Amino acid sequence: MAFSEQMEYAYFEGKIVPFAEAKISIGTHVVQYGTGAFAGIRAYVSADGQAVNIVRLKDHCTRLLRSSKILRMDLPFTPDTLGEAIIELTRKNAPKTDTYYRPFVYKASVELTPRLTGLKDEFACYMLPMGDYLDTTRGMNMMVTSWTRTEDNMIPSRGKITGSYINASFAKDQAMSYGADDAIMLNSRGKVAEGSAANLFIVRDGVLITAPVTGDILEGITRRSVLALAQDLGLQVEQREIDRSELYIADEVFFCGTGVQVAWVGTIDGRTIGDGQRGQISKQLYDELFKIFRGEASDHSDWVTRVEVS
Ligand code: PMP
Repeated sequence: MAFSEQMEYAYFEGKIVPFAEAKISIGTHVVQYGTGAFAGIRAYVSADGQAVNIVRLKDHCTRLLRSSKILRMDLPFTPDTLGEAIIELTRKNAPKTDTYYRPFVYKASVELTPRLTGLKDEFACYMLPMGDYLDTTRGMNMMVTSWTRTEDNMIPSRGKITGSYINASFAKDQAMSYGADDAIMLNSRGKVAEGSAANLFIVRDGVLITAPVTGDILEGITRRSVLALAQDLGLQVEQREIDRSELYIADEVFFCGTGVQVAWVGTIDGRTIGDGQRGQISKQLYDELFKIFRGEASDHSDWVTRVEVS
C-alpha cells in the first residue's frame, strides 16, 4: 500500500520535534547493522469521533522494552512512561483519522564494530494516517515462500528486531514477484511460522489453530487478542505446530497483526481455501475486534487507551 505523509511531530532524543528535524547520521549503528527494534501500534477514531483509541498501548510498550532487553539496551523508560510519551505525541499531532505509530529503539552511536554494549541507546516515534495495510475486503492470495523464517538462535523473531526484517522483506518480495499479496513463512523445521509481518491462524473443523510462541514467530499482540476473543466465543483453540499441507485443506486461514488487522486468505499456492469466501470465524473475530477498537464494546475496553483529540 502507499502510505501517506507522516504527521507533523515526532518524538526524538527525549523530546517532541517537527518530523523533518528527527534525523540521524548515516554512520549510526542501527543504519549500518540493523541494531534496533520497533513496534507498530494503531489508534482508531472512536465511534463518537471525539478521540482516538490507542490499541493495547502498554502491551506494545512492554514488548518493545523486552526487545530492547534482548538487544542489551539501557533506556530510561518503563512501559508506563513509554506509553505516556506516546500519548503526549498523540495530543500534539491530534489525529482525526485512524493512525499508525512507529515507535522504535535503536543503537544511536556512530561506531563501526557490530556489537551491543558500549553504545548509546535512543527511543523515537513517529505517526502517520493509515487505513488497511492488506485489503480486508477480498481474500488474499498467499504463497509459501522459499525463504526460511530466521530461528530464535539466529535473530530472535520475538524481538521485533529491525535487521530481522530483511528476512521478511525477502519473503514479501518473492510473494509480490510471483503475483501474490503476501508470503507465508516456514521455520527451519519446515513448520508454518507466520506471514511476512503478521501471525497466521487456520480453522480446521471448527478448531482455531496457530503456531506456538516457540515456533519462530513474533509474539503478536493481535494474536493474543484473537486468542482471548476465541475463548470468549467458546471456540476450541490449539497452539501447536502447523504442517504446510494443513494450510491447503483448512476451512479458513487468516493473517492477524496490528498492520494487517484480520485479513482473510482466499488462496495459498494456487489452492482455494475453504469455499473461497470469507469464513465465519475470521469475520466474527474481525467484527468483535473492531467494536473494541472503536470503543463500542463493554468487554475488553481496557485494550484501548482513549485520547481526546478534538
Ligand atoms: N509477525 C510479524 C513478523 C510482524 O511483523 C507482526 C507485526 N507487528 C506480527 C506478527 C503481528 O504482531 P502484532 O499483532 O503485535 O502487531
